[in-house]
Amino acid sequence: MNPNIFRAYDIRGLADQDLTDPVVENIGKAYGTYLSRKGKKIVVTGRDVRLSSPRIQSALNRGILSTGINVIDVGMVPTPVLYFAIVHFQVDGGVMVTGSHNPIEFNGLKLSEGLASLYGDQIQQLRQMIEKSDFEKGQGELLQKEIIPQYKSMILERIQLHRPFKIVIDAGNGTAGPIAPELFEKMGCTVIRLYCEPDGRFPNHLPDPTVMAYIQDLKNKVLETKADLGIGYDGDADRMGIIDNKGRVVFADQILALLSQDVLSRNPHATIVFDVKCSQLLPEVIEKAGGKPLMWKTGHSLLKAKMKEVDAPLAGEMSGHIFFKDGYFGYDDGIYVSFRFVQFLSLQEKSLDQLVDALPQFVSTPEIRVACPDEEKFRIVDALVSLFRKEYPVIDVDGARVLFGDGWGLVRASNTQPILVLRFEAKTHSRLEEIRAIFMEKLSQFPQVRLEEATH
Ligand SMILES: [Zn+2]
Repeated sequence: MNPNIFRAYDIRGLADQDLTDPVVENIGKAYGTYLSRKGKKIVVTGRDVRLSSPRIQSALNRGILSTGINVIDVGMVPTPVLYFAIVHFQVDGGVMVTGSHNPIEFNGLKLSEGLASLYGDQIQQLRQMIEKSDFEKGQGELLQKEIIPQYKSMILERIQLHRPFKIVIDAGNGTAGPIAPELFEKMGCTVIRLYCEPDGRFPNHLPDPTVMAYIQDLKNKVLETKADLGIGYDGDADRMGIIDNKGRVVFADQILALLSQDVLSRNPHATIVFDVKCSQLLPEVIEKAGGKPLMWKTGHSLLKAKMKEVDAPLAGEMSGHIFFKDGYFGYDDGIYVSFRFVQFLSLQEKSLDQLVDALPQFVSTPEIRVACPDEEKFRIVDALVSLFRKEYPVIDVDGARVLFGDGWGLVRASNTQPILVLRFEAKTHSRLEEIRAIFMEKLSQFPQVRLEEATH
């Protein structure tokens, strides 16, 4: 068994090499044992559209059942619909078989106890159980149940559009295709569908709306059809992306800023949580709307935990994971977020491009990723925090977010890959370049950081 499949937030690897039937069955046994020892009885499992997912889900179910835990199999669903099934069937947890937005040869497992994702040590605990074959034994019962009709009714009950829109939807051949377009139509919208048929070969593009190359078709279609907006979902629909009526990307921090205005109008003084990669525009908008901005670590499980701790109605990160507690269950549901966004839009007199242009304007880089060995990355980031702190104010909740007054720069170690992630933002292009140069000079003191090897 490849120990590297046990990652910070999930289990992930090459479907045919790493996630073979015996390995996945053992993961099911470990997860079932973990829950059984806490007195838990029943879980749900689901899968995405990938060709390897039915096989992996079967092996997973066999493993869980062999520990005496009962399993409800809800079939092919988006990840947030699996979370909804946990709530709806009032079960003790769930496992989603999904490779999310990754290339077709990958797959993975997202595990949760109740609605809380297993992460960090909890995932390592499962690995240790497998290495020691430390499993409970029993005979659980397998049930097949539908959940998508109940999910659709739940969205229809919660969302009301005050005017209809023309929307282009690109589901990237992932799991959102059979759900979101139909619901928007039921609410009176005109929907233009792009790649809404589930297809695990992803013949058009990989399902990741944060990658510019993958949203080109969506952009073009929005302009061609003069639509009010475009919505893209990732493969398992826990994330979404938006294109405005002028064909421009509305970034996750801008989406979050607009949604904050909506939430704060009804929950004044509430705390909104977001990760260190987000633009300065977000705290500015939150403060102006009377809320409390709280910057936190990157990583959706960490953000979700912080959100719970401070009782925030809304949280989100630059990767596109957005969490609503306000009016919802608190987990990241790209489909629900897209409906909340359109509902917010339906209450505005302005068009989406006007709303985006009214946000504070900054010039920023996308995420820049540079290669850095796993065993060195955290030490190097700690050293950089101390170096920067000698000269500038630094927010150090996750790496160093260095404040330059009229801009900021970020360096943090990825939790999942041998890379450092950088991002820069300023009021002007020239200031942005100055900040970038300051960072590059500091980073060049560490030869282990391969600045020339920018990775995707
Ligand atoms: Zn995803």
